[in-house]
Amino acid sequence: MAAIRESTEQRIELPSYLSRDTLGPWGTFLQQVETVTPWLDPALHPWIETLRRPKRILIVDVPIKRDNGVIVHYEGYRVQHNLSRGPGKGGIRYHPSVTLAEVMALSAWMSIKNAVVNVPYGGAKGGIRVDPKRLSQNELERLTRRYTSEINVLIGPDKDIPAPDLNTNEQVMAWMMDTYSMNQGRTSPGVVTGKPVSLGGSLGRADATGRGVFIVARSVARKHSVPIEDARVVVQGFGNVGEAAARIFSENNAKVIAVQDDSGTVYNERGLDVGALRRFRQNAGTLLGFPGGERLDNESFWELPCDFLIPAAMEGQISAARAAKIKARFVVEGANGPTVPEADRILQDHDVTVVPDVLANAGGVTVSYFEWVQDISSFFWTEAEINMRLERILTEAFEAVWQVAEQKKLALRTAAYVVACHRVLAARAQRGLYP
Ligand code: GLU
Repeated sequence: MAAIRESTEQRIELPSYLSRDTLGPWGTFLQQVETVTPWLDPALHPWIETLRRPKRILIVDVPIKRDNGVIVHYEGYRVQHNLSRGPGKGGIRYHPSVTLAEVMALSAWMSIKNAVVNVPYGGAKGGIRVDPKRLSQNELERLTRRYTSEINVLIGPDKDIPAPDLNTNEQVMAWMMDTYSMNQGRTSPGVVTGKPVSLGGSLGRADATGRGVFIVARSVARKHSVPIEDARVVVQGFGNVGEAAARIFSENNAKVIAVQDDSGTVYNERGLDVGALRRFRQNAGTLLGFPGGERLDNESFWELPCDFLIPAAMEGQISAARAAKIKARFVVEGANGPTVPEADRILQDHDVTVVPDVLANAGGVTVSYFEWVQDISSFFWTEAEINMRLERILTEAFEAVWQVAEQKKLALRTAAYVVACHRVLAARAQRGLYP
């Protein structure tokens, strides 16, 4: 009897919002879990279902009074995908296209990422469906404070620790820290990371994701005996991640030949002056018209012959059609989820080595971890110390993933998932089921 009941229970359908057929990033994550399953220790198989079901989902209404007195409601989320290895950790994004399915996928990728670099966190993510460019600074502050109060039940330095993501920055983190602290009646810097240095932020955090992209790019290049010097680099996205990655590549004598953001694409065969491009964009609000390069149409960007292609914008940018055109030796994913599964297969067939997001952009959360450790101990490290530890953690993570890829003849993404899922599921199994 018991056996029959068990097998019936096994067949219980997933709720519709968890379905693999859901288009978009959550569907991508479920396919990635499927790909890795055959490579996982069979003893852990009974626990795989936990990866397919976020532990906790909170949907919040975020009403604010606009400057003109009108009350507007926004929808916000905080998803804790898995907490087996520690408190939840992951950023908050403000974007008009944020959906629950997207935040679920981003939270799951944080579980994997935190396990790849072996920082003691689970995975979480949050977001608000809003176009922050349409809000004044005061409205943005009210939105952030109300959202923080609404997710107050979930967050805390030993529960769930937000950080910046798309369109959020150290000012937003300062407001979050202050709101949480006011509610607690004490200053609690460890509740968020990516704060201003004056409020317990860490030196090196701002550049950490871009620096990490460079560190793993250099590691993979060494394995293929490709020098960084004079390497041709193209970067999509010129925000916190793309700008820092482009700058650090060019400081190391690589040539950044093209940069694309939502304003367009600039190109210079001899290499763009990244500092001048940043100053130009700051003043002009666009990349277009930059005197040190020429305009290129957005689709031609994907066809440029190069050594490193760095997608550092949104998920889903490398579609199957674009993958077929890519002439890069390495794709190093600065963004979360930039490559759809079909494109992944095409790139593999074309011998393009993809360094996956969960490793390539893990520098950000690694320095977030350093920030949290510094806040808790109230003892702050030098930037040199932070960069040294960052390099050590990412290099070790890269080597662990590389070894699994070599041994089992797997793509780096699958190898990273093997390493990470093993860590998450082993922790899950050791903790056991409650009650
Ligand atoms: N939002 C970043 C990411 O996707 C950083 C997360 C964090 O520092 O917690 O990795």
